[in-house]
This record gives sequence, structure tokens and C-alpha cells, in this order.
Amino acid sequence: MNLKISPLEKSISAAISIPGSKSYTNRSLILASLTPGTVVLKNPLYSDDTHALIDCLKSLGVKINTNNFQVEVIGDISQIKNGNYDLNCKISGTTIRFILALSCIIPGVKKIYGEKRLNERPIKELVEGLRQLGAEINYLEKEGFPPLLVKSSRLNPGILKLKGYISSQFFSAILMIAPLVGQLKIEVLGEQISKPYIDMTIDTMEKFGVKVKNENYEKYIISSNQKYLTKEYLIEGDYSSAGYFFAIAALTKSKITLKNLNPNSKQADIKFLEILEIMGNKIVKNKDSVTIEGSGVKPVTVNMQDFPDQAQTLAVMTSFAKGKTVINGVRSLRVKETERVKALETELSKMGIKTESSADRLVVFGGTPNSASIKTYNDHRMAMSFAVAGASLPGMIIENPEVVTKTFPDFWNKLNSIGMKNESLTEKNIVLIGMRGSGKTTIAKLLSKKLERDFVDIDKIINQRLNLTIPEIVSKYGWDFFRKKESEITKEISMLGNTIISTGGGVVLNPKNIECLKSTGIIIYLVARPEMLFKRIGVDKNRPSLLNKKNPLDELKEIFKQRKNLYESAADYKIDTNGLNLKQITEKIISIIHPEDTKVCMVIGDPIEHSLSPVLHNAGYKALGIDKKFVYKKELVKFEDLGKFIDSIKNSDIRGISLTMPHKLKVMKYLDEIDKTAIKIGSVNTVVNDDGKLLGFNTDWLGVIVPLEKITALKGKRIAVIGAGGAARAAIFGFIKSGCKVTIFNRTIDKAKALAQEFNCKFSGMNNMEEIKKMDIIFNATSLGMGGDVHISALPANIIQKHHIVFDAIYSPHETQLIKNAKKKDATIIYGSEMLLYQGIAQFELFTKAKAPLQQMRKALEEALK
Ligand code: NAP
Repeated sequence: MNLKISPLEKSISAAISIPGSKSYTNRSLILASLTPGTVVLKNPLYSDDTHALIDCLKSLGVKINTNNFQVEVIGDISQIKNGNYDLNCKISGTTIRFILALSCIIPGVKKIYGEKRLNERPIKELVEGLRQLGAEINYLEKEGFPPLLVKSSRLNPGILKLKGYISSQFFSAILMIAPLVGQLKIEVLGEQISKPYIDMTIDTMEKFGVKVKNENYEKYIISSNQKYLTKEYLIEGDYSSAGYFFAIAALTKSKITLKNLNPNSKQADIKFLEILEIMGNKIVKNKDSVTIEGSGVKPVTVNMQDFPDQAQTLAVMTSFAKGKTVINGVRSLRVKETERVKALETELSKMGIKTESSADRLVVFGGTPNSASIKTYNDHRMAMSFAVAGASLPGMIIENPEVVTKTFPDFWNKLNSIGMKNESLTEKNIVLIGMRGSGKTTIAKLLSKKLERDFVDIDKIINQRLNLTIPEIVSKYGWDFFRKKESEITKEISMLGNTIISTGGGVVLNPKNIECLKSTGIIIYLVARPEMLFKRIGVDKNRPSLLNKKNPLDELKEIFKQRKNLYESAADYKIDTNGLNLKQITEKIISIIHPEDTKVCMVIGDPIEHSLSPVLHNAGYKALGIDKKFVYKKELVKFEDLGKFIDSIKNSDIRGISLTMPHKLKVMKYLDEIDKTAIKIGSVNTVVNDDGKLLGFNTDWLGVIVPLEKITALKGKRIAVIGAGGAARAAIFGFIKSGCKVTIFNRTIDKAKALAQEFNCKFSGMNNMEEIKKMDIIFNATSLGMGGDVHISALPANIIQKHHIVFDAIYSPHETQLIKNAKKKDATIIYGSEMLLYQGIAQFELFTKAKAPLQQMRKALEEALK
């Protein structure tokens, strides 16, 4: 289902109450279950996240009563019995982190997991932290990720060290259980991110009677002999939820009062008010409410590292503010429910808004956005932040609006209550047409499963309604009757929405059928040659003959001839199924329907602006028709930011990374696995993100060996490698593997010597080049002749002989002095662009798992080099 939002016609004056904060609700639920006796939590938030935590606590035997206004936590964890517990945290990140820490201090064997998406979110740092205190925790599937099994029941007091820049929830989880462990000192390694969330945890703990010594977010100390004691706790309203209404007020110059808000709250998102004030909006803080008198939006430059949940709201708001808005501190958004920065950029671009981003920054070039249908990526904040734009733009559509249940189930009703009406729309049907045997029914079933939509087969409905097979209907009542029935049912089925419809081969014969199907659906024609159809269905006994031809193949050919044009003109999209399997066809259709489910590949480095990799890879995607599914970008990543960047890609849509120097060496320590070749070469130029597992490869050596092997067999060849740096290493690895005899020539002889010892080959200084004359191949792996030094050659012209193959690693300029000299001697030459091409081809195949279209990729590269 989609939701169409009606804008506010004029500025309004309204007041609404805001549900309890999710963060405080979940913290107080944990603390209440650590407090002896009954604790009443008032004004809780009921949402997917808080339900997940309540359900886990209930599974452990903590008695909890809920009603609209309060949660009663009866009893505490001391009543938990030894046993086996199955704790499903659904999609709630907070729950899994809090429950994991809690599980380490209670009896029993506890299995902790969530839905697929949650199990893809890393939890290693918290596990490591708890292990430092003696916890016994096992990974049940993938190292570093849920599901987990906690076998131990107590933790030891002491000191533990946790990285501060991964997730503040790891700290909160441990802080809250600390009083039940004893004296605990938590040392923060690196910078503590999301400090306000730590403040909220400490604040709630204090309200429950336990003090935490916070030494400037570098150390937290919880002294022993402290107990949670409270009986009642009031949960304040949620500033993250309130943010959308503040934004609407600013955008539409309205006055809105948000009730249940603590004007002096420790919630991170209260800082959003400061940005609204910078924009000129007036904020009035009352006793337990906040009023905003909106006056419009202006471009701003801000850092939202401490309150990233409002970054999406600000990005959407400022798309209306003429000028450039710079939002810094967005790195953590890349590892949330979805890769939020990318999702924002994609959806804002649909609204005609230009954006730019780097690892930690998003720039929005505001102007006059247009309305669009917004994909929400299973992310509640995508839905709510883009709904803000609907306050001012007619025609905004939010896809899958139900995602708001994660934190604000009442969101759409609240919008309604301030005059932003919302109307449900249904998604278009997907209608498959084509000849009998083209795979319509099987593919429709696969699509229905993949897209979680209903599936109907028009022929099957006719069978069921008349309780007769199609040959029986035709022989009893004739073809005209069958076609009439088919039209009736087609009309009826067209009225459905959000359905995958498989049609009979003859549905196109009646233009009215197509008219109906098109009005509510996207029509996809599965093209298949009659020979292929015959191979698949042979003589189909379930179908009556149409033309009574003796030879079934002739009949198929004749029908195809008659209908081909009808299929073509009815279709919105055509898919040539010849040579594709069912899965490939299904995936092609999905990429048409959801082109936004794009996998991103990128080259990173510093500098990066001159990289030709995007040209190369994007040409390949285009040639294979997968350019809706894959996109290749370049991104500047500074050397010092590499670790954080690599960490952020695990849960993102980034499928592959190509690396330039100096990242090729440093990246190795951040990867989950490195293939043997890359280890031997000592560098990684390719990272594949295999569903959260980062795999490292080196394809540089293939860039050297593949083009050479196209010219000559390498075994036994004598090779002079000039240079002893990274490119030389990769090449030498390839040469030795191919059975060549290598001599390394390098300016710094010690480097040549070390490399020669490692690969068991000869070495020499640069002043001893005469012997190269007798060799077969010269490979230049120095930077001599690159860029500005275009007239310099890696070796004297007189060394080059006609029988040589001269291969220069340098590709810019395309024709180096070395290559020019070799040409003059009539030697065989290989340009550096060939190395670039073939290492890229190998990367392309690792990223896409498809065979790379060599010619098209080469052509694109050559044109770019020109
Ligand atoms: P690197 O690790 O920095 O090695 C540079 C090499 O060049 C070293 O052996 C260095 O000798 C030598 N060198 C530099 N300046 C010199 C000079 N003035 N006189 C003599 N020798 C000199 O670099 P790399 O990553 O191996 O890259 C080398 C070249 O290959 C670069 O031009 C790069 O663009 C190119 N490359 C091309 C591809 C491709 O796909 N076509 C791929 C990778 C690299 P010392 O040891 O004495 O310093």
C-alpha cells in the first residue's frame, strides 16, 4: 500500500500530544526489570521496538501488564529460572543489545536473535566487551553477528574497554546492568559518539536510584553497593517523533504546540530546535510542552553527529530552502535501518533536488522540489521525514507507510489531526503476457514470493469457475465462449491492486482486455522464440489446438506470427527470455519494477577525481542491461577515514569497492577474509561486500598476465620488471605463477633485492640494463613517464629490441615515451590501459557475478582516455 498526502492549504495553529520516548521507554523497561518489586512506567511508547523488548522480558518470565497509559513491570529478574530461553528481538536494534547484556546476568541458556535485517547488524563490539567481564557468548551463524547463544549467568566486576565510535547502545546496555555486577569501570576507546544517548541512560539510571560517574565520556564508573529502587517513572515525550511536527510548522509557517515534551530534556533530538531557531523560527518552552511559531526554512551548515535521527528531516526540509545546506556528522546514518544517506539522495533526486555526499557529509542543494513517490526502505524515518514535504507539496506519495509502526504507530493519524489528510493507494499489478510456454505462470509465482504480493493465473480462475479444463471448455462451448469468459475475468482481476497476474497466451486478442490490464498494471511481455517454446512444452495436451496444424512447431510459429505485434504493442516492457533461466528473468523484472534496489560499487582513494573506473564499470552495466541494478561511483576517502568507511559499508547497499593507493595496504586489517593471492601480493585492490562479510582480492596481477597471454605463452619467458613497488609485486606474482624467469631492475637496489628474495627471482640495479636486450618481455612498473614527465622513459631507447614485448603499466598518457620508443623499434607493445581494463574486468565479475562485456568496456575506456 502507498499513502498519498494532502498538503496544508494554509498556515495552521494546532496542538498535539507526542507519545513517550522510545529510548526512555526501552531504558526504563530494562531498569524496571532490574528493580525489585513492581515499577509503574507512565506514558510509554508502544511500537515495534518497545513491543519487541516487552515480549523478550515476558519470555524470560518477567510479569508485565500493559494498558494505554502505563506499563506495570511486576517482579524482577531475580525470579528468572534456569532453563532454555528463545529471545526474538524482531527488528529492534536497541532490544537485541539491551537483552544481550541482560542475558549475561540471568540464569539459563539464552538464544538471542532477530529477523534477517537485524541479524545483519554487527554486534561484535558488545560481545567482546561482555566477554571481557567473563561472559560466555557464542555466535550461532556468522562471526560478529546474531544469532547468539549466552550460556553464562554472571559477570565479574572490573574494567572493560569498548570502542566509542561504533554504537552508544553498547555502552548503555552494559551501564544499565552494572549495579547488578558490582564495581565497574568502562573505558572508552576512541571518540564516544552519540553522547546524548549516554546521557539519557545515565539520567534514567539516576531516576531509578543509581549514580554513574561520567569522566568526560572517556570513562564511566559505577561503584558497587548501588541498587535500583524506584516505584514509578514518567516517560517523557519523544523528541525524535516531535521533530517531524516542528519541521512541518517551520515549512508551512504554522504554530504547533507539542505536548508531553520536557523542555529541558536530555534527548539528543532536542538540539533540532536550535537549528530551527537558526532558521528564524520562534521556539517557546513551556512547563511540559514546546511551541514553535514557524517562519520558514533557510539553508544551514550543521553537524548532526549527536542527533543523526533528525538529519533526514532536515535534508527534506532544506530541499525547500534555496541554497546549499551542509549536514556534517552523517556517518552513522549509513549503518542504520537502511543506508540512510544513500536512500535520502535517491529519493531527493526523484524530487528534482541535487545532493552530494561523502562518508560523513550530506549536501542538499535546495530549491523548488517536485512531488514524488517515495520509497521508504523499511525505514520509519524515511517515511516520516518525507511526509514533512507533503505538508507543502501536493501529490507526495509515501510507499509502505506502515513502517512507522517501528517508533510512532500513530503518526499518520496525528498528521490527519493537524489537517494533512492521507489517502491509501494500491500498487500497480504486474501483468505477464506472452506465448504459452514462455514461463508466465512459474515466473509469476516466483515474483509473488519475492515481492510478497498475491498471485493470480487467469486461466486457472476460468478452470475453477467452470470446473472444467480449458480443452473441455473449448470442446463443449467453443473458442468464442472461452474468450468471452477470459474477458470477464480479466476485467474483474484488473480491479485488484498489488497483484502478480499471469495471463493466457490469447489475452492480447481482445484490445479491451489490454485496456483493463493496463489501467491498473504494468504489462511485461516475456519474449520467446517458437523453437524454444516447442522445446519447453512439446505437445501440450492441456491445451486445445488453435489452428489444427499437424506439426505442433508449425502451429506455434504461425500463432507467434499472428500475435507478435499484439504482444509488442501491449507491452510496457519486453524481456527476451531466450537463454535466460527463470531466476534471471525474475530478477530482470524486479529490477524494472524496483530500479531503486540498486547495488552500488565504487572506487575510493585520495585523490580520486581522475579515476577511470566509473567509466569502465558503468559501460559494462549498460551493455549487460543491468544499469538499473548496479551503479558505479567514485568517492574521496581520506587515509585516516578508511577504517570507519569500511566499517560503514557492511550493512549498506555497497556491493564492491575498488581501491587505489595508499588504501590497498591499509584496508587489509579491516576485512573479514582475504584471498590467498592478495595475501601473497601483499595488497587488496578489490573488496566485495558479501551480505555483510567483507572479502578482499587483488586483480592487478590479472591486468598484467591476461593481456600478455593473449599474445604469447608465458611459460619459460625471460622478463625484465622495471620497478619494485606495488604494481611490480602484483606483476611478479603473476609472472612467477605463469612459470616465467624474472629479473627485477629498480632504482633502490635494496627494494629489488628484498622482492627478488621473496619471489625467488633475480635482481639488478638500473645501471645494468644491457642484459635486458636478450630478454623476451619488458614490463615497466615505475611511475617514470607518467603525468607531467611525459618525455621520460623507464629505460634507454637503445635497450629495446624488435623481438621484445614492451608493456607499460602507465596509462596516462595513453602512449608513454617508453611505448613510443618501442614502436620505433617495431617491438610488440601493450598499453597500460590494457592493465587497467583487465584488472577492472576481473573486479566487474567479482562484483556482479556476470561475465564482463569486454569490447564495450574497452571501447568506453579508450574513449575516456582520448
Ligand atoms: P609505487 O609502489 O610507488 O612504486 C613506484 C616504483 O617506481 C618504485 O619502484 C620506484 O623506485 C620507482 N620510481 C619512482 N620514481 C622513480 C624515478 N624517478 N627513477 C627511478 N625509479 C622510480 O607505485 P605503484 O603502485 O607500483 O605504481 C607504479 C606505476 O604503475 C604508476 O605509474 C601507476 O600509475 C602504475 N599502475 C598502473 C596500473 C594499471 O592498471 N595500469 C595499476 C597499478 C599501477 P624506488 O623503489 O627506487 O622508489
